[in-house]
Amino acid sequence: MDKALIAALQEVGQIRLDEPMSRHTTFGVGGPADAYVVARTEEQLSAAFTLARSHGSEVFVFGSGSNILVGDGGFRGVVIENRNTKVVGPTQNGVGHKVRVGSGMSFSTLARRLAGSGFAGLEWACGIPGSLGGAVVTNAGAYGHALSDVLVTARTVNAGGAISELTPGDLDLAYRSSAMLRGELPDIIVLSVDLRVNKGDAVSLKATIREYDSQRRKAQPAGRNCGSVFKNPPDRSAWQYVDEVGLRGHRIGNAQFSEVHSNFIQNLGGATASDIASLVQLAQERIREQFGLEITPEVVFIGEFATGGAV
Ligand SMILES: Cc1cc2nc3c(=O)[nH]c(=O)nc-3n(C[C@H](O)[C@H](O)[C@H](O)COP(=O)(O)OP(=O)(O)OC[C@H]3O[C@@H](n4cnc5c(N)ncnc54)[C@H](O)[C@@H]3O)c2cc1C
Repeated sequence: MDKALIAALQEVGQIRLDEPMSRHTTFGVGGPADAYVVARTEEQLSAAFTLARSHGSEVFVFGSGSNILVGDGGFRGVVIENRNTKVVGPTQNGVGHKVRVGSGMSFSTLARRLAGSGFAGLEWACGIPGSLGGAVVTNAGAYGHALSDVLVTARTVNAGGAISELTPGDLDLAYRSSAMLRGELPDIIVLSVDLRVNKGDAVSLKATIREYDSQRRKAQPAGRNCGSVFKNPPDRSAWQYVDEVGLRGHRIGNAQFSEVHSNFIQNLGGATASDIASLVQLAQERIREQFGLEITPEVVFIGEFATGGAV
């Protein structure tokens, strides 16, 4: 690691070297990050990112680590954990309201907090454990809704420090996809988002959330996973394809396609990223052979994997 960069990052926040990413992903796997910084404010987030980029380092900014598979070889460069959870509002915005949310805030926590204080519009997100930054990049969604329905603007910074306010159109949000994820808006990160919310009745909003919670408890396994592994193809759900190629419950090493929901891969304890990547690859191969379909992972592959380097 560049010693001058480490010294400069130490001015921004506490820095850890060779930090195991397995401590920071919901899968509980992932090798070491060369340098690891926690950003607790928008200023720290922006400073750490622009500093690392100005030193020519690779940078990986993440939120809750709930949609990533980090390779067992880890990440060469600077990893920034975003814990900027500042919330401003809701404030009146025309006939409705808007709330400005730091991109490190949990979508689930925000949805519950707003419902509890009588603001409607995000109840469907009560089970999405990721951050708002991750939600922008993946256009997170559930129950027929998605972030794109409620996003007013995302405030971003680029490697040179220039701030932009991007609309859903600029971000070209689509089903679990965005221009950022597809690499069409390279070298920018999300600092905060403005979301549209409306006044509602806290009691009924909380009841709606309880209903969503109950549906999730019945349909999804607990434990270490990343939620849905594959995006749903247009004709039917990804779990049906995994079932049809005989992989429900299939295990490689300590990773297993869940018996409860076969589009989930569980780390049974001690799984490696390679175990999980092998299951992903096996399902892709079988679905390609049997149906001629290229099924796309929803989970984002980061860093170095044992076979063949960075993905
Ligand atoms: C139990 C469980 C249930 C889930 N249910 C759902 C669901 O119903 N719907 C759904 O859509 N998803 C679901 N997910 C997946 C996940 O929570 C979402 O994709 C979430 O939006 C990811 O946010 P994150 O902060 O964890 O992103 P991370 O996993 O930390 O990162 C994902 C990607 O976003 C990028 N990123 C994150 N923050 C920033 C930022 N500030 N600036 C730039 N890039 C950034 C990262 O670089 C990475 O490429 C589930 C996951 C789990 C574990």
